[in-house]
Amino acid sequence: MTYNWSENRRCAAVLSFDVDGESGILAEDPKMSQRLSAIAWARYGPKTGVPRILDMLKKQSVQATFFVPGYTAELYPDLVKRISDEGHEIGVHGYLHEKVSSLDLIQEETALVKTCDILEKITGTRPIGYRAPLWDVNDRTPELLASHGMVYDSSLMDDDVPYTISTPKGDLIEIPPHWTNDDWEQFAFHMEPKIGSGVIETCAKALQLWQEEVEGMHHYGRAFILTMHPELIGRPARVLMLEKLIEYMRSLDGVWLTTCGEIARYHQKQNLTATMSEVG
Ligand SMILES: [Zn+2]
Repeated sequence: MTYNWSENRRCAAVLSFDVDGESGILAEDPKMSQRLSAIAWARYGPKTGVPRILDMLKKQSVQATFFVPGYTAELYPDLVKRISDEGHEIGVHGYLHEKVSSLDLIQEETALVKTCDILEKITGTRPIGYRAPLWDVNDRTPELLASHGMVYDSSLMDDDVPYTISTPKGDLIEIPPHWTNDDWEQFAFHMEPKIGSGVIETCAKALQLWQEEVEGMHHYGRAFILTMHPELIGRPARVLMLEKLIEYMRSLDGVWLTTCGEIARYHQKQNLTATMSEVG
C-alpha cells in the first residue's frame, strides 16, 4: 500500500533536533551538576551547535522541528525564541529528559503540561508535537497526549509513514523515527560518565547511511525522519555534512522537506478526506 503524499510529492523528509542540553545527563544522574566538564559537553548543543544549525537552515531555506525539554527552555529562553521566530516548529521533549517508563501517570502528566506551558510562554504558541526522551513511552502515553491536545507523537518505530492511533481521548498521529536515522548512534561518545554508543564515526559514513535511507524512502514513498542532537550534529564538519544531505534530497524528484507538524496536519487532512469519502 502506498501513502498518498499528494500529486507532486513522492516522499517526505524532516530534519528534527532534540535540544537535550544539560537535561540529558542531569536526568541520568543529578550529581552531574557538579561535573563541569560533563555539563560543558552537553552545553555545546544550545550554546554553540544550535546557532550554527540555525544559520545553515536559514541559508538553505529549510524549516525544521526542534523538540525541547522544559528545562532547556528555562535555561535558554532567548534561543528557543530565536528558533521559533525563524519559522521552525517547537515540540515537547519532557521536562528534565525524564525516562517516561520510570514515571507514574501524575509525574508524566506534570512534566508534559509544565513543558507545554514553558514553551508557550516563550514562543506564544502551544506545541502540538511530542517526542519522548529516549523514545521511551508507556502504553498510556498516547491517551495522555491526546487528552492534552497534542496532535502527534514521534517516538514509535512500527512504521515508516505517519499513522493514526485512536485513543479514548481522541486521535493521535504517530510520525515514526528510527535508530538508523539518529546521529546518536553515529557520533555520541563521552568518556565519564559513559553516554551514547561510544563511537565517533566519520561524516562520510553518516552521510552515506542517511543518503541510502533517503533513497529507500523516496523509492517506496515513505517518510525520512532524521533525529539529531545539537551537541553532536552541531560540530562544524557535521553541519557541512547535513548541508550535503539537504542538497542530495533536493537533487531527487518530489522530496517534501518539511516539519513533523506539517506532516501531522497533512495526515489529519488526509484522514478527514478519507472519512468523508467513506461517508459520502
Ligand atoms: Zn533527548
